[in-house]
Amino acid sequence: MPSRSAVFSQRSLILALLVLLACGFLATSLLSYLASRSTIRDSIINTELPLTSNTVYSEIQKDLIRPVLMASMMAQDTFLRDWLQTGEQDARRVTRYLGEIVAKQGIFTAFLVSETSRIYYQAKGVLKTVEADTWRDAWYFRLREHAAPYEINVDLDMANHDTLTVFINYRVLDDQQRFIGAAGVGLSVDTVIKLIDDYQRRYQRSVFFTDASGKVVLTASDGGPHGLRAGDQLADSAALHNLISRMPAPAPGSHSYEDAAGHSHFLNVRLIPELDWYLMVDKRETGALDRVRESLYINLIICAMITVIVLLLLNAMVKRHQANTEALATLDSLTGLPNRRSFDLLAEKALLQAQREQTPLVALLIDLDHFKALNDTHGHLAGDEVLRQFAYVLRGSLRQTDILCRWGGEEFIVLLRGVPDEVALEVANKIRQRTEQLFFSFEDQPLRLTTSIGVSSLHAHDTLQSLLTRADHALYRAKQGGRNQVCGELVQAAHD
Ligand code: GH3
Ligand code: MG
Ligand code: MG
Repeated sequence: MPSRSAVFSQRSLILALLVLLACGFLATSLLSYLASRSTIRDSIINTELPLTSNTVYSEIQKDLIRPVLMASMMAQDTFLRDWLQTGEQDARRVTRYLGEIVAKQGIFTAFLVSETSRIYYQAKGVLKTVEADTWRDAWYFRLREHAAPYEINVDLDMANHDTLTVFINYRVLDDQQRFIGAAGVGLSVDTVIKLIDDYQRRYQRSVFFTDASGKVVLTASDGGPHGLRAGDQLADSAALHNLISRMPAPAPGSHSYEDAAGHSHFLNVRLIPELDWYLMVDKRETGALDRVRESLYINLIICAMITVIVLLLLNAMVKRHQANTEALATLDSLTGLPNRRSFDLLAEKALLQAQREQTPLVALLIDLDHFKALNDTHGHLAGDEVLRQFAYVLRGSLRQTDILCRWGGEEFIVLLRGVPDEVALEVANKIRQRTEQLFFSFEDQPLRLTTSIGVSSLHAHDTLQSLLTRADHALYRAKQGGRNQVCGELVQAAHD
């Protein structure tokens, strides 16, 4: 039976290995996960999102430059300027001019406003008169005072069912550089929205625009991230609380934030100076990291399986080793019989059982006669061989339930359970007779042997010690009596 400290140290060995393996596997898996995550994050922040921004920006620029040139050409057109300065005769001439620009240049809308009459002309005719106190016309009065030759403005186009339109408003000046009106074109933002839709679909990221105050001006056709719609303020969105605390107003650069649901996002912000808008490209981290996280889980499962297998193997090995050690500790290495240590345990149990159940128990103390002489004559190896063969004879003379052990040297002990004295005596005599009659052999050399046996039977208040002492006394008598005999207490010494 393994000692408590052995079991304890075995458990702590397995526990230490488990902790070591688990820590090692966890550390390597987590380190590789963190390294991949940081690489992916870096690539999103430093490459992917800025690249998207650049491409969207250059597409917008491409679409904007032509209308800007067109509006500039209109503002400098001598026909328009002359027409304005000669009393705006025959409005059809101007509306035809504007209509041709729309038709030929593929531009959404074209217009002219006269400073003298404040009339707003467009391709379909006279639209209205601009008025200083109307919010819709505020752009005109702003342009009047504008230092730069033009301004780009996103507005609803009244002439076209209030479609969201990018207007390029040019100042028209006379020869003395006096402001005589405004001319320009409008560009539907549909093309930009299509571009955003296309980007979102292809790259799984959100693209939208805000003005300098953080008001959303343009999103994909189905809205921006977190349900943002044109007209919403970023600051009002609960999902962007974390972002706004760090970026109260749009600031160009790379940002990362957590939305209300705790998902990490990366955001690239870029100013579009022509529009004074901010282009925002937003990407949720989870999507990008799903595969890395998946491989982390697979890694951890493999590691856990390896750990379990290693522990099972280790446990089996330790158990086998322990069984071997236990066998070595309880068996005599020469004869393979139980040794004195294991005899003590077996004998105590048998004694208690016999006393409890009041069944007989008989001890035989067996000593080979003149064994020293055999050793001296034939050598120690011959002695060893004879001891092995004698153990074999002993085993063959007893039942499974009897307890047999090598007491030490050339002495053996047998405990016969549940047999009366007469039977015990018969068994002892059988052993003695067989030993005497047998030819033991060493290197094909026949060797003869006799044995003396002391017998004692259990008394009511016996201890193992007292039982064996009586057997020892009996053995002494057998030796004294001339050897090759069985002597016993409560039994008659027998000799044939
Ligand atoms: P007696 O008849 O009085 O018992 O004489 P004996 O020679 O058998 O008794 P003694 O106790 O004087 O000697 C026992 C001998 O057994 C001495 C010892 O060398 C030998 N012996 C003890 N253990 C072993 C062993 O494992 N192998 C061998 N070969 N000899 C052993
Ligand atoms: Mg002896
Ligand atoms: Mg002896």
